[in-house]
Amino acid sequence: KIKQIAIYGKGGIGKSTTTSNISAALSTAGYKVMQFGCDPKSDSTNTLRSGKYIPTVLDTLREKNAVKASEVIFEGFNGIYCVEAGGPAPGVGCAGRGIITAVQLFKQQKAFEELDLDFVIYDVLGDVVCGGFAVPVREGIAEHVFTVSSADFMAVYAANNLFKGIQKYSNAGGALLGGVIANSINAPYAREIIDDFVSITKTQVVEYVPRSVTVTQSELQGKTTIEAAPDSKQAEVYRSLANKIANHTESKVPAPLEVKDLREWAAKWGDYLLAMETGEVGVETASNI
Ligand code: ATP
Ligand code: MG
Repeated sequence: KIKQIAIYGKGGIGKSTTTSNISAALSTAGYKVMQFGCDPKSDSTNTLRSGKYIPTVLDTLREKNAVKASEVIFEGFNGIYCVEAGGPAPGVGCAGRGIITAVQLFKQQKAFEELDLDFVIYDVLGDVVCGGFAVPVREGIAEHVFTVSSADFMAVYAANNLFKGIQKYSNAGGALLGGVIANSINAPYAREIIDDFVSITKTQVVEYVPRSVTVTQSELQGKTTIEAAPDSKQAEVYRSLANKIANHTESKVPAPLEVKDLREWAAKWGDYLLAMETGEVGVETASNI
């Protein structure tokens, strides 16, 4: 059975980097993987293809009427199937339409089954508030949703919005939450903030991914860290993450906060960090607030 996973998160938070490394790690572990970019920027699979871009499903459909799924699937690192849904011309139409159209095309042609895939991983920019971006969650296309978040408020805010969307569609066959991929977690307080957030929203951290120059170097070479630096510490983190996702079975309905409560929660941490800076409290007491 194909395991379908959607990875959401605020713009620029590290979705494509994380997703591509998960795909690469799963693939080197012997799984057959498709990475499905659902971002109108269509750069999701870039580091799986040595920095080369691929034509999107929407662009290909604009050029001709009958498109075979095989025409929009491109091979990437270690045989990973790469797809970019694409989007409308900037400023025109719904940016989520690419996902709807591409998923329909693949379903009609039974493309997922034909390739005998183990995993399809959707890299989704945007939030479930928009109909198009909700597709992987709402239609239950993905069974498990993960979100990439740092400890920054706007990232947590976006994660909380995603939780609201998941909760909303959860009794209508929507996808459930697998957990949070904590990205760019280096300072001890960042880990405490994200730990506190998952605890109050009744979810969990799947992996803590440090911010690492190895990722930067790999990206500059147009590659994932799994491909460019397989022996690095960071590659080990991505393999561990991929392994957890591969073995993950039970997703849950998260318990998002009301915006007011999220704000209060954040302000409490704000006070704490300020006190830490002025030396009033020590780092080790962070979990006591
Ligand atoms: P968008 O919303 O624009 O699609 P995204 O969420 O997909 O963005 P990425 O493109 O994956 O984000 O990452 C943004 C930048 O942050 C990239 O240059 C990437 O290399 C860098 N980055 C992400 N995670 C890490 C990390 N753990 N260590 C170092 N750099 C990172
Ligand atoms: Mg991206």
